[in-house]
Amino acid sequence: MVKETGYYDTLGVKPSATPDEIKKAYRKLALKYHPDKNPNEGEKFKLISQAYEVLSDPKKRDLYDKCGEQAIKEGGMSGGNFSSPMDIFDMFFGGGGRMNREKRGKNVVHQLSVSLEDLYNGATRKLALQKNVICDKCEGRGGKKGAVEKCSTCKGRGIQVHVQQFGPGMVQQIQTMCSDCRGEGERINQKDRCKQCSGNKVVREKKILEVHIKKGMRDGQKIVFHDEGDQEPGLEPGDVVIVLDQRDHDVYQRQEENLIMKIEIQLVEALCGFKKTIETLDGRILAITSHPGEVIKHDHLKCIQNEGMPLLRDPFEKGLLIIQFLVAFPDNHWLPLDKLPLLESLLPPREEVMITDDIDMVELTEFDLREQSRHYRREAYQEDERPRGGVQCQTS
Ligand SMILES: [Zn+2]
Ligand SMILES: [Zn+2]
Repeated sequence: MVKETGYYDTLGVKPSATPDEIKKAYRKLALKYHPDKNPNEGEKFKLISQAYEVLSDPKKRDLYDKCGEQAIKEGGMSGGNFSSPMDIFDMFFGGGGRMNREKRGKNVVHQLSVSLEDLYNGATRKLALQKNVICDKCEGRGGKKGAVEKCSTCKGRGIQVHVQQFGPGMVQQIQTMCSDCRGEGERINQKDRCKQCSGNKVVREKKILEVHIKKGMRDGQKIVFHDEGDQEPGLEPGDVVIVLDQRDHDVYQRQEENLIMKIEIQLVEALCGFKKTIETLDGRILAITSHPGEVIKHDHLKCIQNEGMPLLRDPFEKGLLIIQFLVAFPDNHWLPLDKLPLLESLLPPREEVMITDDIDMVELTEFDLREQSRHYRREAYQEDERPRGGVQCQTS
């Protein structure tokens, strides 16, 4: 039972979510609300980042579950400071993992939606990107050689200092980026500017990236194109990072290198044997049968060797295909009452129970587990104010 669900709600997951589910939720939301893609949602981006920072750390998550957001902010653990949303993002999506970030442009992250078939068979996708490249006409100078001069407005410093008086004898210095040179400290006369880039030193260019999805890659996997990010004079370009996002499959679920599927069989098949076909993710048809005399119970699991997902390091090797059997029982009154003794004579015998006069006969009614547990959860939430074991919540 968790005290609050705010952080879970922010990420759109249940309080029972696994670390993987939390990672996936963050991945999707962070890419959607990143300021590059959604400049007006900075606040939302920050909240997503904070929720992820707490829920991805087992200790902080534990504290939050027991004591709520207040306890996190009071900072039993981290001094109550959140990391910057950009740092969290860079750590999560970090491309090449190379240091020296001041000398490199930023990485650009794109999500690529793929099917389970793509990850099973491998695929190639073309991705069109717009990127800044150094202007080849002026070689990134922005104008003719020698045309670049120090900005006279800011004297080459790139910043302007304003003095503001805000009370008798009180002054405040405010620094702003120089608007004449856009903080670069240098400028080029209108007439000397490069015609191709209008003095911007870079031009927008369309670039097609070929993304090779290898057999066995997984949801959330990153494919890094080194140095394919925006070019900027004086900086090494950042990377383009493609993050694979697998769509749910109608039949198969993936669990690491294994595939899981459910097959419904009729009661007669469960008791007397079945024969079924399965279509694999590369379109082959497999036939499966039960062994003579074998009974398949509801929820019974069986597997086929080497029909799971290909392994990334060795695509000729595959995991397991795990089949969960669901037995469909017939409906009420499927058999006329007078035929029941015939069926019973074939089934394993039942155990007879003696009912004596001092035993009460009671009524059995239908029961809905989900309805009941919702009811229970509401009550428990209202009553449970005391912390139980482990971390003690501070009250201030
Ligand atoms: Zn140019
Ligand atoms: Zn200037």
